[in-house]
Amino acid sequence: MKTNRFLLIFIMLALVAVSFSACSENSALNTPATETNLFMGTVVQIKIYDSTDEYIFEKAFEMIENIENKMSLNLAGSEISRINQAAGEKPVQVSEDTYKVIEKAIHYGKISGGAFDITIGPLVNLWNIGKENARLPDQSEIDQALLRIDYSKIKLNPDEKTVFLEDKGMMIDLGGIAKGYAADALSKMFEQEGIEHAIINLGGNIYAHGHKPNGDNWHIGIQNPEAERSDYIGVASVRNKSIVTSGIYERYFESGENSYHHILSPFDGYPFENSLSAVSIIAGESINADALSTTAFALGLSDGLKLLEAYPDVEGIFITRDFKVYTTSGLKESFEMSNSQFTLTN
Ligand code: ADP
Ligand code: MG
Repeated sequence: MKTNRFLLIFIMLALVAVSFSACSENSALNTPATETNLFMGTVVQIKIYDSTDEYIFEKAFEMIENIENKMSLNLAGSEISRINQAAGEKPVQVSEDTYKVIEKAIHYGKISGGAFDITIGPLVNLWNIGKENARLPDQSEIDQALLRIDYSKIKLNPDEKTVFLEDKGMMIDLGGIAKGYAADALSKMFEQEGIEHAIINLGGNIYAHGHKPNGDNWHIGIQNPEAERSDYIGVASVRNKSIVTSGIYERYFESGENSYHHILSPFDGYPFENSLSAVSIIAGESINADALSTTAFALGLSDGLKLLEAYPDVEGIFITRDFKVYTTSGLKESFEMSNSQFTLTN
């Protein structure tokens, strides 16, 4: 989950620059108070359009830091690290937060037939995609890691709030779901604090909280997976919704002619290869959007679309490597293409 720190700082400075220029253009309009920080291995930016003070930002970043401290795979004392260390030995008691996220993740493991699997940790550590020491592992290493991946071997005890990994060497990695949980936590806190208009952005995992100060929906750009950060294929119009994207461009490394991205198959141990370059999910809860973006990407276009159609309150935008865009049926009114390189196909 830790991307190159310099890259993150660079992105952060770029975001700050963009928000400054946006401010100067829009000074007559409602200008948000914006703060940016590095947490959970990514750039976290919060924009609040209500009159507010520093206390809310402090509280928000504290909450994210607290979630990271519990759920990070990389921090030695985190609850996830303690679960992983005790694998094959003993159950570990965890906070309500961590327990809930793991429970939800197991649910997505079940409905995806194991394509979404938070015991992916041994493979994530092997590939190290997104870190400086990313590398193409040997087949024998991949085979070894695959033996330790099976979400059905996570044993939960709801009374004791304990988590037990049955086999030694198993490792939970919440990288595909924890940012969504954090976005929801912030949105709930904002609601309690009377904040009605805010954009919470954890490295592209967005919660569009409330609506624009003028009463309109938020307009959220859907990232062009083939371009630099700030180019969009289209715009989704939402209020009180999370938008989360999983794509091949987010974290990857190149070796020889091949590019390897960070969503790994628990079946063969390599990055999922299908027709997709990205999937964006729109849902009321960011934890669902986050888990479903990774899941739908893993399932591919046809099965991914099918899965999303089963949820009336979840929508999805699928972008293929050949520049086609497919959306779920509920998006007709609220998604508009804005890039002629891409063709809306349904
Ligand atoms: P991002 O981390 O860029 O927000 P995703 O939400 O799509 O992207 O999650 C990808 C992360 O999830 C990976 O970096 C890894 O930590 C974890 N992961 C990789 N493959 C899987 C998988 N098959 N199931 C669950 N989690 C995965
Ligand atoms: Mg995800």
